[in-house]
Amino acid sequence: MADRMWGAEPYWGLGPEWDPDWVLTDRQKELRATIIELCEREMRANAKRFDDTLEYPRRNLELLGEHGFLALTVPEEYGGLGENHVAYAMVCETIARYGCASTAMCYVMHMGAVNAIMLRPTEFLIDKYIRPLNSGKIGTLSYSDPETGSHFWYPISSGAERTDGGFNVRKKASWTTSAGFADFYVVQTTSPDFSWYDDLSVFVVDKEDAQARPELWDALGLRGNQSGSLNIAGFVPESQIIGPVGDGAASNDESVDPWFLIGSSSVWNGIALGAIDITKRHTTRKKHVDVGLRVCDYPTIQDYVGECVMDTNAKRLFTYSVAQGCDRVTDNNTRALGPGEFARADLLHWLWQIKFEAAKNVANVCDKMLHACGGSGYKRDMELERYLRDGKAGWVMGPTNEVLRQFVGKAVLLGFESLDYWNQAVNQRAIDNEVKKLDAKAKRALAERLLTEADDDEAKGAKGTVKSAS
Ligand SMILES: Cc1cc2nc3c(=O)[nH]c(=O)nc-3n(C[C@H](O)[C@H](O)[C@H](O)COP(=O)(O)OP(=O)(O)OC[C@H]3O[C@@H](n4cnc5c(N)ncnc54)[C@H](O)[C@@H]3O)c2cc1C
Repeated sequence: MADRMWGAEPYWGLGPEWDPDWVLTDRQKELRATIIELCEREMRANAKRFDDTLEYPRRNLELLGEHGFLALTVPEEYGGLGENHVAYAMVCETIARYGCASTAMCYVMHMGAVNAIMLRPTEFLIDKYIRPLNSGKIGTLSYSDPETGSHFWYPISSGAERTDGGFNVRKKASWTTSAGFADFYVVQTTSPDFSWYDDLSVFVVDKEDAQARPELWDALGLRGNQSGSLNIAGFVPESQIIGPVGDGAASNDESVDPWFLIGSSSVWNGIALGAIDITKRHTTRKKHVDVGLRVCDYPTIQDYVGECVMDTNAKRLFTYSVAQGCDRVTDNNTRALGPGEFARADLLHWLWQIKFEAAKNVANVCDKMLHACGGSGYKRDMELERYLRDGKAGWVMGPTNEVLRQFVGKAVLLGFESLDYWNQAVNQRAIDNEVKKLDAKAKRALAERLLTEADDDEAKGAKGTVKSAS
């Protein structure tokens, strides 16, 4: 197998024989080579600056745009590269591994916004947002809500009302990657006249209509991703709703979640690989003169690296395999799906698993690679500590690993219907258990309170979705 090059030199990290290249087409391998070249020429050096100064990685995103990557999965007829989910996984992994994890995360959110539009494309949306992508136009997703934290599917403090020719949209977000820098924002709010929080709609809002406070952003890692707050309050024309009113939950399941989970998992895998690359470079070069051995000659260090390579390749292959599953159900990302039609959504429980596994792995791998490099790895000039800080975002980004692990365990044990994203299912066992602790007087007091509340609700016409507890 030919050496992977880094400029004029052979690449100093893991060799290409450790890449599962059988999942990639020849064209995808060429795309990867282009990204590695861009990383070597400029993107990796920029990563240090973005991390030091919190600068937004626009330059790196422009470089990606110049080579078509900002429209990677867009059909060729609309100016894209017409690529699939596997290509997307490879691109996110490669940018994070060889270049800049902040850029990779901005790219994930950008492609999330692009694919939310492409799930329900209209001529207007394509002309305005999709065809100009490669001129460097950046989009992002703004879903999380300050009131509901990592339950990003529950936008309690956002909403939309119908008005002449469109909607008045209110969106409040405490986290939005690229906030203040993106050219367009795909946002989710409750629908006009919604009756419960599962009734969501998706809009695309231009940068002129979004207020961000990037100066408030400062964080442990992914410092260039500028995930600051966003505030939108204003008119959005009818032409800028994505899909029909009420399409939000379907759009999440079919597009936003699948693309985000593949992309972000691949970023965590790329960071893990990058940390192993740095460790190889350092441990094969550093010598202990007293014993005449390099650090890599110690079996302990070999064990660290061996285990981390196997763990990371297990997560990569898991991610690629689920991406292949998405390719298969969408005819290689060419299937047009109308509202009510689903393909990727049927793999959502697999997509949760890849994110959990990749985010868990990256933290462990960066930690072990730091141990393997010793005090030298702790210093900033080796870059390993940046990979460690960047990788830490994996576990806490919504859907967080706590939430995902519970989704999977609960779905396995109690069935998918028990997941209750929008707080609609009543836990009768918990009610019965608490009530049985009450004496007769306390039961009567509770009953009276509930009757009063029920009267009030009826009088107000209060909206709730649960008619009876089961
Ligand atoms: C680098 C970065 C970039 C981001 N970019 C974006 C973006 O572009 N767009 C966007 O919309 N959002 C973005 N987010 C926000 C992200 O998706 C989450 O909304 C955010 O991280 C939640 O933080 P929080 O402090 O509100 O956590 P909380 O939700 O308050 O969580 C605190 C703790 O409670 C746990 N927890 C929460 N719910 C449950 C539960 N049901 N069961 C068990 N444990 C639970 C969590 O796992 C965590 O351990 C970004 C976040 C980060 C870190």
